[in-house]
Amino acid sequence: MDRVIVVGGGPAGATAAAVMAGLGVPVTLYEREQFPRHHVGESLQPATFGLLRRHLDLDLADAGFPRKYGAVYVWGQNRAPWTVLFDERLDAARTGLDELHAGDPRAAEAGLLSGGYEHAWNVDRSRFDHQLLACAERNGAKIEAAEVLGPVVDEGRVVGVRVRSNGAEHVERARLVLDASGQHRVLARALTEQVAVPDMNATATYAYFDGAGGVPGVLGRHVQWVVTVPEGWIWFIPISPDRTSVGCVCRERARMEPERFERMLRASGLPLDGAEWVDEGANKLRFARDWSFSHRRLAGAGWALLGDAACFVDPILSGGVDFAVRGGCQLALAAARALSGEPEGPLLASYEEHTFKDYQAYLRLARYWYGNNRSVEGLFWEAHREIPAGASYTPARAFVYLTTGHLAADRHLKVFQEWQERRIFRQLGVDSDALRRARSRPPAG
Ligand SMILES: Cc1cc2nc3c(=O)[nH]c(=O)nc-3n(C[C@H](O)[C@H](O)[C@H](O)COP(=O)(O)OP(=O)(O)OC[C@H]3O[C@@H](n4cnc5c(N)ncnc54)[C@H](O)[C@@H]3O)c2cc1C
Repeated sequence: MDRVIVVGGGPAGATAAAVMAGLGVPVTLYEREQFPRHHVGESLQPATFGLLRRHLDLDLADAGFPRKYGAVYVWGQNRAPWTVLFDERLDAARTGLDELHAGDPRAAEAGLLSGGYEHAWNVDRSRFDHQLLACAERNGAKIEAAEVLGPVVDEGRVVGVRVRSNGAEHVERARLVLDASGQHRVLARALTEQVAVPDMNATATYAYFDGAGGVPGVLGRHVQWVVTVPEGWIWFIPISPDRTSVGCVCRERARMEPERFERMLRASGLPLDGAEWVDEGANKLRFARDWSFSHRRLAGAGWALLGDAACFVDPILSGGVDFAVRGGCQLALAAARALSGEPEGPLLASYEEHTFKDYQAYLRLARYWYGNNRSVEGLFWEAHREIPAGASYTPARAFVYLTTGHLAADRHLKVFQEWQERRIFRQLGVDSDALRRARSRPPAG
């Protein structure tokens, strides 16, 4: 059957389904939870929004999420904060803006906004994920409330999934099945082997606060804040003008007691004085497993893994949603090409190769980061090693280019554009290869 099945409606699955449907691919997405649903992972990267605009014409500027211009770090022994901003111009303008608007947060906000600086958003994931899934449905993807139990394999090829809905089980067939079930890894568990990263195991403990402050000066609540404490590190992510997500990442397995969590927050120096801990009953304190991993294979005959179902790197670089959305775009394109007659194997192999490469670059950088006493400059140089030779970036900008997701997004968009051009030429009856050869020939005479 010429349709694609997607398992899971988080950022990876919803993006894949939305983009495929937009390209005319018949797609059914199974999601077992009722949306909107809670999810950790709220500090996003600019390239994510570029991909959503480019592929889905989806602009979240009006969604009311706080703009994120970068991050402020207090890391290791040296307690002097350092800042990584997405936009080089803001690096230069910030001190002037701080002086101009000292003591006037509204004017400071207006100053930031009028500069048109590059930014991402920090988001309430229940709303962000819901908006993406709604976009998939608007584009024509069929969204079904059901749990996928596992793959159906026939002569070594995945040909569908076993599904449970309304208490009954049945089989659904498809040409391609994409596992975007997050860390549940429904297909991954059955089809490949997990590759653990034992030195990158941690537990996150987090909660929400109303009425917290922000970074001094013009950046205020428009950055993510990361602070180390003796036990690990703490994130401070404003997800609305008033609400802040605050979490500790510690290399421990046991769940943290609320009293210890509070003690760590007090020791961090974060602006939580007078802030109110949001009491959601049993969810006043939340926990998430934070173990980096990948798999031996990320794709095979009739199947592919994306987002957290494929691989996961510790959240220090805030790259999870970007990986998920980009994986969705890449696999949507691969599926559209496979269903229009190109051989599936090389398309999936190329996806697998690029995803492994991006995963390994992030893992190397995260590991380096945790080498606590290393300098910031060392970290930037480490990022510089990951970008293509010949690219003229300073180490600090190389770090931004890599960790904002732009490096990988630019590579994907180039492939997408070439495919679109070929498709248009084909529709017009033009031989695009002959045209390219003619273009690359030096002018006569
Ligand atoms: C502590 C921590 C902090 C993080 N912080 C950040 C951050 O600041 N920024 C960032 O970008 N990322 C962060 N991440 C990572 C981010 O949360 C994930 O990378 C991202 O959610 C992955 O998206 P996904 O779509 O792959 O999976 P998910 O968002 O987990 O979605 C998977 C979906 O599949 C559904 N599903 C599962 N099993 C089935 C089934 N059998 N049948 C049908 N449906 C199913 C689930 O209900 C779910 O809705 C963090 C992660 C952790 C652990």
